[in-house]
Amino acid sequence: MTVKAILDEKGRDVVTIHPDEAIGDAVRLMASRRIGAVVAVRVDGGIAGILSERDVVRVLAEAGAEALSQPVSSAMTVNVRRARESHTVHELMEIMTEGRFRHLPVEDDGRLAGIVSIGDVVKRRIQDVEREAQEMRQYIATA
Ligand code: AMP
Repeated sequence: MTVKAILDEKGRDVVTIHPDEAIGDAVRLMASRRIGAVVAVRVDGGIAGILSERDVVRVLAEAGAEALSQPVSSAMTVNVRRARESHTVHELMEIMTEGRFRHLPVEDDGRLAGIVSIGDVVKRRIQDVEREAQEMRQYIATA
């Protein structure tokens, strides 16, 4: 199973925000869309960073509620690890585990082309394992 197969099923929409917007706006966006991260995108469409709920918790702990009026750029991670459509679920698990993050924006030709979360990865992994178990049961029953 590849990133392409995941995106074909879940869609390629990504919730984005401009890095100059306030962290409070990003928080409201994450809450209303029920997501854990927003990708900060420049006007030219390029990825500027990623802001996850973990970054918000960190700035709130450091600066208190005033942090909510600071720009997204002040708390986001700028060195964003990206996935390609050709990556497999197994490779995604390795990248996420190694980098200790749960979101991977997908980039195609320098453009944001989707996002995969750890929830998407776990869902596909469970489907794969269940299918393998079913195939084994069928094999044993007919052998
Ligand atoms: P997460 O586990 O995705 O909520 O994020 C944990 C930390 O990793 C936060 O500081 C995020 O900004 C950062 N992060 C999330 N996704 C990525 C990514 N794809 N590349 C680099 N850093 C990321």
